[in-house]
Amino acid sequence: MARVIAIANQKGGVGKTTTAVNLGASLASSEKRVLLIDSDPQANATSALGFTRDPARRTLYQAMILGEATERVIIDGQIDRLELIPSDKNLVGAAIELVTMDSREYRLKQTIQPLRDKYDFILIDCPPSLDILTVNALAAADSVLVPVQCEFLALEGVSELLDTLARLRRAINPSLAIEGILLTMYDDRTTLSKQVAADLRSFFGAQVFESVIPRNVRLAEAPSHGMPVIFYDIHSRGAESYIQLAKEVIVNAEKRLGSGTERVDQGARAPAASAAAAGAGSSGSDGGSGSSSGGSGAGAE
Ligand code: ATP
Ligand code: MG
Repeated sequence: MARVIAIANQKGGVGKTTTAVNLGASLASSEKRVLLIDSDPQANATSALGFTRDPARRTLYQAMILGEATERVIIDGQIDRLELIPSDKNLVGAAIELVTMDSREYRLKQTIQPLRDKYDFILIDCPPSLDILTVNALAAADSVLVPVQCEFLALEGVSELLDTLARLRRAINPSLAIEGILLTMYDDRTTLSKQVAADLRSFFGAQVFESVIPRNVRLAEAPSHGMPVIFYDIHSRGAESYIQLAKEVIVNAEKRLGSGTERVDQGARAPAASAAAAGAGSSGSDGGSGSSSGGSGAGAE
């Protein structure tokens, strides 16, 4: 059964799409079967995989609103084991039409239910808001991955988001876990980045991924070439960091399977992952945590 991970943060430009595309490609390159769902009318994930605008292409809109068979909507992501449910600007209409539909929060969940045994991971790229599309993603997901840009007031932003998620859990999806908080656009030359990373780690502990995504120009360039960074420049720090993240996600999934349980409220991560984080954190929290895709994650393999 696929693990369904929504990649969400209502703040714009924090690295949601970059994470969805590059984590997806890195999981696929680790032999995992991946479905990427572009649930943002901006369709940035769709274009980052090289699909230019095409009014004839079916999108999530047809599957989720018109109830068309998903086989008619899913396309080959042009990478082994990666498939895509694309988006386009018509998905804006979905948000409006959903309002009057029955069980409107659960349309995406119903859409992907029959697909869960075909993939190892289903990643959903959310728009930068908490609109009905994001609510559908969070209702359909097993967990949410929250990319956070290492900038001023990041801690406040994440705290607010986690409060919102707690409310959503009560109302819509009681089993929604936190896959992890991901530090993005980390710049190890700035004190601010280091400080924000240290604050987030001390506050949210093992809920923060060990892997850190550095600010890396290759990550920003790759979408304009229509490919994930591992195909654009495999040796870049950006590529390394997303490969590292994929390993961490896989290890956490395996641990979860092994233990057979998962805590929803606080750390959704398995106890062993927390221990590893604590071990790495003791040397890393006062600066070393900034070593981006550094050695600590590699030790998990
Ligand atoms: P939106 O809220 O609009 O959907 P988003 O959260 O999906 O935005 P992205 O589109 O992934 O954010 O990233 C915003 C911009 O920052 C993009 O131009 C992207 O290429 C760039 N970017 C993302 N991550 C990095 C990084 N680690 N290093 C450098 N540039 C990055
Ligand atoms: Mg985006």
